[in-house]
Amino acid sequence: MREFPFERILAITRDILRVADLEPALESIAHAVADLYAFKYVTIVAADVSGGDMVRRVMLGWPEDVVRERKGERIVRKDILAILEPQFEVVENGFFIPAEDELDWKKSIYAGLAPREAPREAPGRWHERDVLVFVLPDHRGEMLAYISADGPIDGNIPSHDILASMQLFMNLTGLAVANAHARAAEIQRRELLEASQAILRHEATHDALTGLPNRTLFAERLATTLAHVRDTPTQRHAVLFVDLDEFKAINDSLGHVAGDHILKAIAKRMSATVGPSDFVARLGGDEFGIIVDHRSGEFDVSQVARDIHAALVAPIEIDGLSVYNTASIGIAMIEPNAGAIENVLRNADTAMYYAKSLGRARHEFFDEKMHEKARRRLTLMNHLRIALDRKEFFVVYQPIVALSDARIVGFEALVRWRNPALGDIGPSEFLLLAEETGLIVPIGRFVLGESCGMLAQMRRRAPALDLRMHVNLSVQEILEPGIAAHVHENLARHDLAARDLSIELTESAIMRPGTASELAIERLRATGVRMCIDDFGTGYSSLRYLHQFPVDALKIDRSFVFSESGELGSVPIVQMIVQLTKIYGISVVAEGVETAQQARALQELGCAYAQGYYFHRPLDARTAFALIADETQIAV
Ligand code: C2E
Ligand code: CA
Ligand code: CA
Repeated sequence: MREFPFERILAITRDILRVADLEPALESIAHAVADLYAFKYVTIVAADVSGGDMVRRVMLGWPEDVVRERKGERIVRKDILAILEPQFEVVENGFFIPAEDELDWKKSIYAGLAPREAPREAPGRWHERDVLVFVLPDHRGEMLAYISADGPIDGNIPSHDILASMQLFMNLTGLAVANAHARAAEIQRRELLEASQAILRHEATHDALTGLPNRTLFAERLATTLAHVRDTPTQRHAVLFVDLDEFKAINDSLGHVAGDHILKAIAKRMSATVGPSDFVARLGGDEFGIIVDHRSGEFDVSQVARDIHAALVAPIEIDGLSVYNTASIGIAMIEPNAGAIENVLRNADTAMYYAKSLGRARHEFFDEKMHEKARRRLTLMNHLRIALDRKEFFVVYQPIVALSDARIVGFEALVRWRNPALGDIGPSEFLLLAEETGLIVPIGRFVLGESCGMLAQMRRRAPALDLRMHVNLSVQEILEPGIAAHVHENLARHDLAARDLSIELTESAIMRPGTASELAIERLRATGVRMCIDDFGTGYSSLRYLHQFPVDALKIDRSFVFSESGELGSVPIVQMIVQLTKIYGISVVAEGVETAQQARALQELGCAYAQGYYFHRPLDARTAFALIADETQIAV
């Protein structure tokens, strides 16, 4: 059985009445009335019963015959008004639905309520078919079973309670309460059925959280669009597949309530961004789909994607935190020869994934070559799930050297995956998958354990070198609640000082999602480990961040070091970064040094440390250890 769409009902009722805490208010009223008259059952119906005057109202109803039995109708009304008055302005002084003899339906009494302060504008999204029935929790199952029963409704009505709520339901779905009694039984039945179906259909085609169309409706719309494109091939349409970046981390760190809040805010921003003829849907989780319609003259899908990126830039405030969001977007054109709609959607999805793999926060157009990649991704995913158990991961260590004399001052731990069937898979290929599945956390713990063990051995073998270990942590690992304790444990287990460990974080890990990661980073810092910004200069936050967070080192991104000719890639940027580190009194490491010219130029610019193939490739544990032993011999 489907779940009773209670959340959505409340949301819309809230919208009508503009009362934030509607649920407790309605529930207490319902209980109060039920207690007062020992009713088994009270229904509160919220609907637009006002016709065209824009006043939104909620109606409260209860079975009339019960009322008759207990007390006079008028007395009941008075009592109930007394309960309602403090909370709502009663705009209709209660009214009565006359008997419907042929039907012998039980009747209900209603009170029309309006919020104490009349809403200034009409709610933005109001569907005239939305009828809201507030049923006390104990009765929701029955209610739903009844309205979702297929086939015509005959005289076989289960119970008085259900009957009463059907009456309410019908009067309101039948729309005009005043006309209810004038309708023939057949018509009422049909309307009831239709209305129920409309409600169920709305439920089945819309997303409860955001109110957006859901995947089902999206598919329908896509099919229509595709048919249209076949008829009029000159018109152009496209599908955008929008997936939020690192949303899992937000959900895990801030909780689902915050996650939902963010999804709603983003849904709103996206709807506001696209054109009036474009169609936005929530496809599930943090995935949204957009069908971009033909626009006369200009058809610029990239612009739509850029608009969406722009719409996400401003942080979303939640509980005093600023949460920054980005999205990766895949775009597929809807061609007349597209085949099934699933193809179009899959293509857009594939392009979206491609955008993610290129570093997120961007959009890519689908092209056929991406299929190969998508297949590979699936294969990798299947193998990845069992790789940890099968001990397919290991850690390699790339030396970090002092540029002045090439002496080794530390190592960066880099994870490797060797699968018997697939061979060696690089971290840039599998880490994204690992983040998506949450596997990054156990993998990261494995790397931390291994590398701390390695460092301990090295420091025992060559204490004079005072070696340090650099370990990479991604956003999700940082936000994992136990991370600080875990780091601490590892250090203690291997008898290492916190200062021997340096955590490398990318700028995106630091900036997103907002302050939640700040807190996590603070907690990590408090353990005494060093912090270092990886790939410095490639993010968007660099300078601002340096002010906010004390870090111990910056790593100049490989892209500023590299050039085709083997010269230092970007002298001005390297110069600027080195100067920055001097001002802040922190250390600097250049990454990806491949040539002697680069090493020399870096040293001349005042960069103290470097890492790269020119000095050493990442080395397996045994080789790295032997290297230390050698250095010690030379040093001694
Ligand atoms: P990264 O932190 O920027 O690591 C440096 C990458 O540059 C490594 O790639 C390294 O092998 C490569 N590299 C080093 N010297 C040179 C050079 O001279 N030229 C060139 N072209 N490349 C060089 P790798 O091992 O493929 O790692 C890729 C990225 O994966 C890393 O970038 C890091 O962000 C991430 N990563 C690696 N291991 C881990 C891990 O254990 N945990 C997490 N969270 N991320 C990791
Ligand atoms: Ca790194
Ligand atoms: Ca790096």
